[in-house]
Amino acid sequence: MSFNKDQNITGLPVLQDNIIWLWVKNKSVVVVDPAIAEPVIHWIKKRDLDLFAIFQTHHHEDHIGGTQKLINEWPDVKVIASEREKKRIPFQNISVKDGDTINVLNKKFKIIEVIGHTNSHISFYSKDFHNPILFIGDTLFSGGCGRIFEGTHEQMFKSLKRISLLPIDTIIYCAHEYTKSNLQWALEISPNDSLIKEKLLEVEQKINSNKLTIPTTLKEEMNINLFLKAKNLKEFSYLRAKKDNWA
Ligand code: ZN
Ligand code: FE
Repeated sequence: MSFNKDQNITGLPVLQDNIIWLWVKNKSVVVVDPAIAEPVIHWIKKRDLDLFAIFQTHHHEDHIGGTQKLINEWPDVKVIASEREKKRIPFQNISVKDGDTINVLNKKFKIIEVIGHTNSHISFYSKDFHNPILFIGDTLFSGGCGRIFEGTHEQMFKSLKRISLLPIDTIIYCAHEYTKSNLQWALEISPNDSLIKEKLLEVEQKINSNKLTIPTTLKEEMNINLFLKAKNLKEFSYLRAKKDNWA
């Protein structure tokens, strides 16, 4: 478990490879994509904190699976999700769309829609932290990007381009710990890339000492993430297809 003191954001690894992010301010907690509820309830109660809000990036079960139980436990919790997902994220009580700014515990978050993995996936971006932060869900992973289930390759490529225009020191909180296999794949595509090689070693060390390999930064990803580095849609599509068929 990693605890970034500076930003007060902790990653809770659950299920196979999901990471639930918990941001604490004073006595309040904001949780991002609660795949399951029990570890979150335990974590919050153990510290004598309260759940204030839930950010939902998209409708997949491994992101909303714990939400109902959290609502049962904290009936006043704000559940923030895309207004286009009222059916698939039915428990939302604050509905947002691309470009909206919401105020949560006195920090502003901008909603950036990033279509591709699903057709209404959103991300939560804030400049009100020491470094800008981005909760990106399943759109970008360290060394990789989300599978395109509902959107088109073009939409996903555009979503990643939008992300790449954020400040370079943005800290990116992804929803899965896929970094190692992403980098192993990337090295098969670019066997001589010294930055990817270096990063893979660093990631293996972290995993060996039981640490998370995320969050990552935009700066880091611009160096090692082949999908972010793709120059055009054709290159992006080629990489995505390669990755989809990779064992
Ligand atoms: Zn997903
Ligand atoms: Fe997921």
